[in-house]
Amino acid sequence: MLFTRIGIAFNDLCNNELNLLLGNAGSALQQAKFEHNLIKVYEKEEEDTILLGIDLWSDLGHAIEEGELILYYQPQIDVVTEKIISTEALIRWNHPQRGLIQPDQFIKLAEGTELMGKLTLWVLNTALRHCASYRNAGLDAGVSINFSADNLLDPELPDLVMQGIEIWKVPPDKIMIELTESAIMEDKPGSLESLHELKALGLKLAMDDFGTGFSSTARLLNLPLDEIKIDMMFVKDMLTSPTHERIVDSMISLGHQLNLIVVAEGVEDDQTYERLKQLGCDVIQGYFVGRPVPLTELIQRVVLK
Ligand code: C2E
Ligand code: CA
Ligand code: CA
Repeated sequence: MLFTRIGIAFNDLCNNELNLLLGNAGSALQQAKFEHNLIKVYEKEEEDTILLGIDLWSDLGHAIEEGELILYYQPQIDVVTEKIISTEALIRWNHPQRGLIQPDQFIKLAEGTELMGKLTLWVLNTALRHCASYRNAGLDAGVSINFSADNLLDPELPDLVMQGIEIWKVPPDKIMIELTESAIMEDKPGSLESLHELKALGLKLAMDDFGTGFSSTARLLNLPLDEIKIDMMFVKDMLTSPTHERIVDSMISLGHQLNLIVVAEGVEDDQTYERLKQLGCDVIQGYFVGRPVPLTELIQRVVLK
């Protein structure tokens, strides 16, 4: 079906730059196409964001081959033993012109495109290689890897994961796959089967950003989950807001009733750590325990300290 799309731009009357006005209207038309809108009014800031997105998307295709992606690792502490039981692999992009780019700026661009599968495969293999390397150095910890909802639609994913495990020899039960609550709730055809296949390989499964989606208890019961990660928006304010504290408390109870490990994210101070410990939270992750760092720094700080 063909749509007529309209781009609108305004100009102040004292400034007679017709070409600029036409150019801005053209940009608004491009934005309307990009966002699937019928009409778009030109706004400079939005144009900058979209152009940056297009630039980054085209660079991202080469970033893997050029070795520009890096994984950082953030420790997760077992509240009872106070030892690191796992680390979360978090991607960064060392862009040759723009410097270090955080994942929030480029993961969304890859989602829904063929780049997401390529990127996750790189993350998976690199995280397994690095996990094997810190385990060999003496850190008896697993690794948590973030997957996107798109990854579950790839029928080759379980085989690729199995190949990674065979190559890097990380015990499968030390590998946690993290999927956000909203990604799991999308419930696209085939995704539940993929989750079961990953579980059949012996991997563990975590629901990330718990509390930000809309999971029903019935759906939670149907999923082959091992862990929930309470989103930091609830953790951050739990000492100042009794409502937030009650929510965190209920999430911990719900998780335990479902036999799940409960992780709290975004723990930035010792009072929050202590309160979570009193509430029975199992695992803590956050700046209080340690910021995400590259592999060499993790080994230096934790193993060679
Ligand atoms: P996430 O999976 O929820 O990861 C936790 C984020 O919170 C990380 O941000 C981490 O650096 C940050 N964080 C950890 N502790 C604290 C704290 O105490 N305070 C605060 N304010 N923040 C804390 P980061 O590394 O920027 O990652 C952002 C998001 O990007 C991740 O959120 C995840 O959704 C996505 N992401 C990162 N790496 C990957 C990846 O390899 N694949 C996919 N699909 N997504 C990834
Ligand atoms: Ca995560
Ligand atoms: Ca999270």
